[in-house]
Amino acid sequence: MKAASLNRNNFIRQIRRRPLTLLGPLFLIVLTYWFFFTSSKPTSKYSYKTKKNGFFSRQHDVIPRNLPGDHIAHYDLNKLASTPMAVYNKEKVLILSPMSKFYNEYWSNLLRLTYPRELLELGFIVPRNKDGDLALKKLEKAIKQIQTGKKENRFSKITILRQDTESLDNQQEKHRHALKVQKERRAAMASARNSLVFSALGPYTSWVLWLDADIIESPPTLIQDLVSHDKPIISANCYQRYFDEEKKQDSIRPYDFNNWVESEEGLKIAENMADDEIIVEGYAEIATYRPLMAHFYDANGDKNTEMELDGVGGAAVLVKADVHRDGAMFPPFPFYHLIETEGFAKMAKRLGYQVFGLPNYLVYHYNE
Ligand code: GDP
Ligand code: MN
Repeated sequence: MKAASLNRNNFIRQIRRRPLTLLGPLFLIVLTYWFFFTSSKPTSKYSYKTKKNGFFSRQHDVIPRNLPGDHIAHYDLNKLASTPMAVYNKEKVLILSPMSKFYNEYWSNLLRLTYPRELLELGFIVPRNKDGDLALKKLEKAIKQIQTGKKENRFSKITILRQDTESLDNQQEKHRHALKVQKERRAAMASARNSLVFSALGPYTSWVLWLDADIIESPPTLIQDLVSHDKPIISANCYQRYFDEEKKQDSIRPYDFNNWVESEEGLKIAENMADDEIIVEGYAEIATYRPLMAHFYDANGDKNTEMELDGVGGAAVLVKADVHRDGAMFPPFPFYHLIETEGFAKMAKRLGYQVFGLPNYLVYHYNE
């Protein structure tokens, strides 16, 4: 008894003299508590969650606090499948759209897609210019409407990125298609696509659908249809509706010429190019004589007809998420004299994946 009380007196005296002896261990306990009990979850259900102080909250505080012992998330990539039975297997699809303009028609077409919403995530990247400011405003408004509406209509997650680089301002069709701006423009687009996919791809994502923000019409079963082909990469054929002044009637014409098969001439041109030169398809100045999928459309043909491709566009392309996970990206530099989506197809092929297109399966590009 005596020894114990002596010890206690001693202890109290010690603390009075050197308060740090108590504060040190106390600080350690608090630190341990903070570390284990306030760590955040790796994924939140929504990037943007309804909060008392407004719908769009960009801080990390939307991420729910965790229970102890729940701060490690395991994902077995061997069990993550990308199969033709995607809906049945509840496979998660990430739809990615670089967006310089927001079109209502794009949004309504997106909302018409019949793939289950709870399996759908969306990702956008918006340029840092005037167009981008306006697009972002409209996009946020559209998202707010759907994500605060009926639960069953909500997308499982939505991510919006703002580009970290300055963007070219002049985005009119005739300007952005001029051959001399292609390298710079396509390199910027490639970087934007890379930022988007590497930020938004989850460890649970099975498929990535690249859908340009000016694709305003597609079959509502777009995802199920593309998935059913079970290909690493498969591209729809991108056309455009227009009014034929000569025939005085509505008509359609090919729009995207980046879906192609390599040709002898294409290879020869590449062979004689300087290291940093690129071939962009669809320009008379560079006659590659590559067979272009756009020209293989047959109105009476089978929609499921497949053709193997060497280059793809970005209009409507479905990619097994593993292709990106394995490292296939959009080269913002000349890769085998190819850049952006065309370079992506080449890179995927170098990784051992096959690339396909559906010449008779049309999606439609906006007509400016
Ligand atoms: P085109 O149809 O081949 O002429 O190419 P677009 O200009 O339509 O670009 C393809 C996609 O990228 C569309 O969804 C555009 O909205 C989007 N886009 C175009 N320029 C930019 C840009 O500078 N930054 C981002 N983030 N998206 C862009
Ligand atoms: Mn476009």
